[in-house]
Amino acid sequence: MAAKTAAEAGLDVVLLEKRQEIGEPIRCAEGVSIRSELKELIDVEPSWISTEIQGARMHSPNGDSIFTTGVKGEGGGYILDRKIFDRALAIRAARSGALVMVKTRATGLTRKDGQLIVSAVCQGERLHIEAPLVIGADGVESKVARWAGMDSKMKPEDIMVCAQFLVFDEGIDPDYCEFFFGNFIAPGGYIWIFPKGDGRANVGIGLQGSRSGPRMPVRLLESFMQKRMPKAKVLQVMAGGIPTSGPMKSITSDGVMLVGDAAHQSDPLTGGGIINAMRAGVLAGRAAAEAVSTEDASQAVLREYEGRWKSSFGKQLVKSYNAKRFFLSLDDDDFNHLTKSLYGRDISSMHTKDLLRFLFRQNPKLLWNLRNLMF
Ligand SMILES: Cc1cc2nc3c(=O)[nH]c(=O)nc-3n(C[C@H](O)[C@H](O)[C@H](O)COP(=O)(O)OP(=O)(O)OC[C@H]3O[C@@H](n4cnc5c(N)ncnc54)[C@H](O)[C@@H]3O)c2cc1C
Repeated sequence: MAAKTAAEAGLDVVLLEKRQEIGEPIRCAEGVSIRSELKELIDVEPSWISTEIQGARMHSPNGDSIFTTGVKGEGGGYILDRKIFDRALAIRAARSGALVMVKTRATGLTRKDGQLIVSAVCQGERLHIEAPLVIGADGVESKVARWAGMDSKMKPEDIMVCAQFLVFDEGIDPDYCEFFFGNFIAPGGYIWIFPKGDGRANVGIGLQGSRSGPRMPVRLLESFMQKRMPKAKVLQVMAGGIPTSGPMKSITSDGVMLVGDAAHQSDPLTGGGIINAMRAGVLAGRAAAEAVSTEDASQAVLREYEGRWKSSFGKQLVKSYNAKRFFLSLDDDDFNHLTKSLYGRDISSMHTKDLLRFLFRQNPKLLWNLRNLMF
C-alpha cells in the first residue's frame, strides 16, 4: 500500500521483497473481521476472498459456546487468500509505476550526503539503491528499524508466538470463525479456526511469548486438534510472531518510516494487523510524496506521518494494549463469565473498542479497572 500510494503520487518507487514470490509463505490466518474496513482501503476483487464469514463462535474455558451472527455481505468478515491478495497489491503498486523486485533481500542501510543507500542482494548479485527516503515494511523481524537506529526491541510478554496448520476437514463449518479461550489450552492467547472453503481452514494458536516454551504452540495445537478435529488432515504447517507491544516510541528517523508489523502496529489484544498495516502504508506513502516534493525527508517532517497514524488508530492501540494487560490478569472463571455475557448478542460487526464497551456495560464490577479505556 505504501509503494502503491507513493507511486500514484508520482514518486520513483522500488519495492524489495526477499522471497522469490510475493505472498508466500503465508504467515497469517488471513482474517479481516470487518469487511467495510478493507473496502474503505481498496477495491476488493472476489478472487482475493477465500470465504465470507457470517459470524463467530466463541468457546469459553468451561466449554460453553456462543454464536455471534452477522448478515452475509454486511456484518462478518473475510478470510482472504493472502497468496493472491498480497500479489494483487504488488500488481497494483506496479501498475502505478513501482518497480517490484522479488528475491531481493535488503541487507543494510547507510546515510551519505543527505541520501540513504540501501544495500541489497538480488538473485545473488549485490546492488546499492540511492534514495531520499525508505519505508521499512519488513515485518515483525524488521531490520530496517535496527539499521535506522530505532528501538524496536520487544519483551517476550509483548510478542504473540503462533503456530498454524492449514487443514482439510469436511466437518468444518464454512460460515463461522471459531475462537477457543482458556489458560489451559492457550495460555495468554487463544486458538482459532478460520474456514477457507472446500473443507479447508487455518487452525492456529497464539500464546503470550513469556508463557510459551520450545515447541509449546505446536504441542498445544496438536492436542487441541486430536480432541476437536481428529479427522483433520494437515496440509501445511507454519510458525510466526505478532507484535502485541502497542506503538513503538518512534517509527521515524531521518529519511526512514516504518509501517505495519515493523512498526508494531498490529492490535495488541487480537493480534490482527492486516488492516492497520494497510492504513499505515497509505499514510506513509502520502507522507513520502509530501517529503520528496519539498525535498525535506528529515525526521521533523516525517513526524507528520507519526502524528497522523497516532490520531487515526495509534491511540486505539494504546487502549488495546492496556486492555490486553488487564485481560491477561483474569482467570478462566472470569472468562467464562465474560463469554456468558455475550449470549444472544451480535458482535460480528463491532470494533474492538465497541466490544470492550459492551463487555464493560455487562460486567462493570469485573472490568472496573478498564473504565478509563472506554471512551
Ligand atoms: C500466525 C499468524 C496469524 C495471523 N492472523 C492474522 C489475521 O487473521 N488477521 C490479521 O489482520 N492479521 C493476522 N496476523 C498478523 C498479520 O499477518 C500481520 O500483521 C501483517 O501481515 C503485517 O503486514 P506487514 O506488511 O507489516 O508484514 P509482513 O506481512 O510480515 O510482510 C513483510 C514482508 O517483508 C519481507 N521482508 C522482510 N525482510 C526483508 C528484507 N530484508 N528484504 C526484503 N524483504 C524483506 C518479508 O518477506 C515479507 O514479505 C497474523 C500473524 C501470524 C503470525
